[in-house]
Amino acid sequence: MPPVSPVTVGVIGGSGLYQIEGMDATTEVEVSTPFGTPSDRIIVGELAGVRVAFLPRHGRGHRISPTEVNARANIYALKSLGVQRVISVSAVGSMREEIRPLDLVVPDQIVDRTVARPRTFFGEGIVVHVGMAEPYCPELRELLIRAAEMTGRTVHPVGTYLCIEGPQFSTRAESRIYRQWGVDVIGMTAMPEARLAREAEVCYGTLALVTDYDVWHQSEEPVSVEQVIANLERNVDAAKEILRHLLTMLSAERRCSCGSALASSIVTAPDRIPPEARQRLELLIGKYLR
Ligand SMILES: [Zn+2]
Repeated sequence: MPPVSPVTVGVIGGSGLYQIEGMDATTEVEVSTPFGTPSDRIIVGELAGVRVAFLPRHGRGHRISPTEVNARANIYALKSLGVQRVISVSAVGSMREEIRPLDLVVPDQIVDRTVARPRTFFGEGIVVHVGMAEPYCPELRELLIRAAEMTGRTVHPVGTYLCIEGPQFSTRAESRIYRQWGVDVIGMTAMPEARLAREAEVCYGTLALVTDYDVWHQSEEPVSVEQVIANLERNVDAAKEILRHLLTMLSAERRCSCGSALASSIVTAPDRIPPEARQRLELLIGKYLR
């Protein structure tokens, strides 16, 4: 990996967001991690005067399915570049009538229904239980809401994101049951990203872009694929605008507690942590073991 001066803000782009036009002085960085290879080379550059590391979650050309996304490698790689805050951009379906296509949602909660994804950096000799009561960084959420409101679009400042495994969409019966759970939007990528960001002591916020209603919604006219793609493209344009607004609002120092999530979460006695685990996890836990 060529030396890159530290970058503290990361953006993980979802469906439709594979590059950000207007990033200046970009370099592409290939990062290898103890957890494998990230989704793509990371693009480091300047956006709105702020250094940003951008990673397309599904790879350029959309080659990686939600199940196949190596979220551990993605979060670890961003952390290794110095990233302290990650903004995740995700296309979602709406689970409520009043959340319409092209609306923006800044979720505050997540229900995880994924079943086939590694969800922790730890294990194999080291046990860590991080708190997930509030899965999103409150500071980043507040700024995302403010930045989203600047677009003039309808912004829903709270919401529960239901993350399903996919790659198929839900059956109508599943979609109806999920609605009874009280969720607001449905997608395939917030987990395990949010868990891993917390374990890496990285602030995490999601900008959820509504492309359509999920299948529970039986409108008079069926939704066309063209319409969904057109909505996706308009949403991606909004996301780029929101990112620019957000970047100018970020303070240099974090005022949240995300940066000390592991302070009282490592359960294993330090002298019992195997040397291999110490080495593999040095970037994440080193400061607590010295
Ligand atoms: Zn935070």
